[in-house]
Amino acid sequence: MADGRWNVAIDSGTCIGSGVCAGTSPKYFKLDGGYGTPVADEVDADDEVVTAAESCPMEAILVREVGTDKVIAPLD
Ligand code: SF4
Repeated sequence: MADGRWNVAIDSGTCIGSGVCAGTSPKYFKLDGGYGTPVADEVDADDEVVTAAESCPMEAILVREVGTDKVIAPLD
């Protein structure tokens, strides 16, 4: 189970505005101006964030552990 705090970022140059993230997890992602946007830049660790990040067809969503910058998603 995930714990800690995570930073959520979307590379606006990579996002194609498919909306998969917002459809998968509206709690954490929304479409803003036609592009995916995190609802909050920093969140409590939650596997739902990883699921949404892994669903992005462009791998535009980067999830890192606050403090260590360890990449939580996407993973190879
Ligand atoms: S799933 Fe990826 S490409 Fe689609 S809107 Fe979200 S961040 Fe952008």
